[in-house]
Amino acid sequence: MSSEHSMRIGIDLGGSKTEGILLGGNGEILIRKRVATPSGDYRGIVAAVTALVEELEADVDDKLPVGIGTPGAISLKTGRMKNCNATCLNDMPLKEDLDRSLERPVRIANDADCMTLSEASDGAAADFENVFGVILGTGVGGGVCIHGSLVSGINAIAGEWGHTTLPLSAYQCDQSQDLQAPKPALRSCFCGRYDCVETYLSGPGLQRTYLETSGSELRVEQIVELASTDDAVAVAVLEQYSNLLALALSSVINILDPAAIVLAGGLSNMQSLYNKVPEYWSSYVFSDQISTRLLQSKHGDSSGVRGAAWLWPKT
Ligand SMILES: [Zn+2]
Repeated sequence: MSSEHSMRIGIDLGGSKTEGILLGGNGEILIRKRVATPSGDYRGIVAAVTALVEELEADVDDKLPVGIGTPGAISLKTGRMKNCNATCLNDMPLKEDLDRSLERPVRIANDADCMTLSEASDGAAADFENVFGVILGTGVGGGVCIHGSLVSGINAIAGEWGHTTLPLSAYQCDQSQDLQAPKPALRSCFCGRYDCVETYLSGPGLQRTYLETSGSELRVEQIVELASTDDAVAVAVLEQYSNLLALALSSVINILDPAAIVLAGGLSNMQSLYNKVPEYWSSYVFSDQISTRLLQSKHGDSSGVRGAAWLWPKT
């Protein structure tokens, strides 16, 4: 087993399951455990995370560093949790309570930040200086890593790209496409704004585009399957998705100029994105050449829990 001094624990606190790993100093997963997240029970969640950590370090003499990925973030105003879809966590002093029950300071970051840190530490973007990480799933999240460290920002919202407005007026429709540009201000978002990136680029967003275009309700996997049979509407909807993702990422490239953008989440499995999106973003980014690489995450579903462990970097 790795030296105890190089081991760390990562916890991915999800809405339905909580996963924990004991990570060795070379990034090897030594132990992995999963438990059900006590639904709607804040005290139960604190107890479950505590028990999981104790189990993972049962054979270790020291108290190991613990990092925790959560669906939300810590409010700088209150020190309490905010924006969690496991809503019983909201407004609760999760860090304070876990620091106390685990008798050590823990580090907490949101799941998109953990994914980005994982991929920048020893994943698809390990060799890149500045990295933007994107989760394309039920929601859309983002994170920023520079020189292997997460950037949090003065408002603790660095990378919260999913709730910026998609600049639909800048959409450039390929002449060969049948689809017209989406009309702005048509999609309301749960955050209270309109036409957020998430309303088009999340799984539900893509399904909505397909429904509005075809009149049929299909799941993402069904739309992808249909496109593989050259169904004209499914192909056009996915083409528009690639174009809109390029449009949304072009603002990130103009501001951050990342060496790599890493995609994770269910929709990142669409292999066509990795050719199409860089083709489309050349017409949106303010540069005559774009060397930014678009990469698929290396660690996939394990990226969140690995990044939580890497909240304690190698020394
Ligand atoms: Zn929003």
